[in-house]
Amino acid sequence: MAIAFNVDRLASIRTPFYFYDTNILRQTLDAINTETQKHDNYFVHYAVKANTNPKILQVIREAGLGIDCVSGGEIEQVLKAGFPANKIVFAGVGKSDWEIELGLDKGILCFNVESIPELEVINEIAARKGKVATICFRINPNVGAHTHANITTGLAENKFGIDMQDMEHVIRLAQQMQNVQFKGLHFHIGSQILEMDDFIALAHRINDLQDQLEAAGIQLDIINVGGGLGVDYKDPQANPIPNFKDFFAVYQQHLKLRPHQTLHFELGRAIVAQCGALITKVLYVKENAIKKFAIVDAGMTDLIRPALYDAHHRIINLTSTATEEDTYDVVGPICESSDVFDKDIPLPKTHRGDLLAILSAGAYGEIMASGYNCRPLPVGYTSEDLA
Ligand SMILES: *Cc1c(COP(=O)(O)O)cnc(C)c1O
Repeated sequence: MAIAFNVDRLASIRTPFYFYDTNILRQTLDAINTETQKHDNYFVHYAVKANTNPKILQVIREAGLGIDCVSGGEIEQVLKAGFPANKIVFAGVGKSDWEIELGLDKGILCFNVESIPELEVINEIAARKGKVATICFRINPNVGAHTHANITTGLAENKFGIDMQDMEHVIRLAQQMQNVQFKGLHFHIGSQILEMDDFIALAHRINDLQDQLEAAGIQLDIINVGGGLGVDYKDPQANPIPNFKDFFAVYQQHLKLRPHQTLHFELGRAIVAQCGALITKVLYVKENAIKKFAIVDAGMTDLIRPALYDAHHRIINLTSTATEEDTYDVVGPICESSDVFDKDIPLPKTHRGDLLAILSAGAYGEIMASGYNCRPLPVGYTSEDLA
């Protein structure tokens, strides 16, 4: 079932805005739970940076998922949304002191630590509070992901994590500290990954690291493999639900999990991308010698992915009744040449006043909106709000 648009209802709302189909979101969460419920030691944490809309968070909380945060602001937001602190994991290369204090005060499940200086600061702050911080180390597995260079994170050249060759040394350091408790390893190799081979390579790397640590007498309780599963941006209506079966099967088949261990996942995009669309109105259709531009009222301030990552989102005309097609560049009103949603795409003949839907916009869309050009932030509505 594809995202469903009640066009009459959508046409009554001031554009641009985000629209979320909660049926798609619920089906996505069901598909995840169907796979993970086959294992009593698999835990999925929603990577909340993808979308923090409170109504989206509510549906995800009801499905029983935990949370992956990358800032103190996110921790505050998800606690407010009713997620229990003991289901929160906290990653990030640059955690501020107040963010570490917040995590300790609230009793989050785990800090995913990315450097020795950070380890020392967490130990110091925890000591000052008379607490013990539960930690995993984020290891850079030097596994490449077949995705856009700006969203690959698991290569030695990336800023994330601790190098493999330093792993044993940092674990020994942590084991000597009074106010941290070392629990396991964390990985996250990138985003929008569709090649299962990339996840298989990660699983094999983790097997090697585990063997190496066990030979040194170090046991792990937690293995966290991060997120990164991609979605079908080309044909979201045909494939609204990502391939969770294959994704979880990779780890079941390739990762040698020890019986007492828990396996954690941090999925963001795969959970929320396909339930969301950015709805925008065509302001003008402008022609020059070589192009037709559909100038819309949404811009890169509402959805920055095309400008930032060269991302492609499927665009459909919700209201045109024309049977003939034409070729358009769909562009926003912002004073930047990169404010282009897509180039040379076929649309049914498009006119001023038509409503367009920019699909697969539920992840890294609304949350990345900015007020550049003094534009108001887009509002997010769910299908339930509009019922
Ligand atoms: C962004 C992020 C994720 C989620 O990535 P997706 O590609 O959206 O699944 C998971 N873990 C960490 C540490 C992240 O920074």
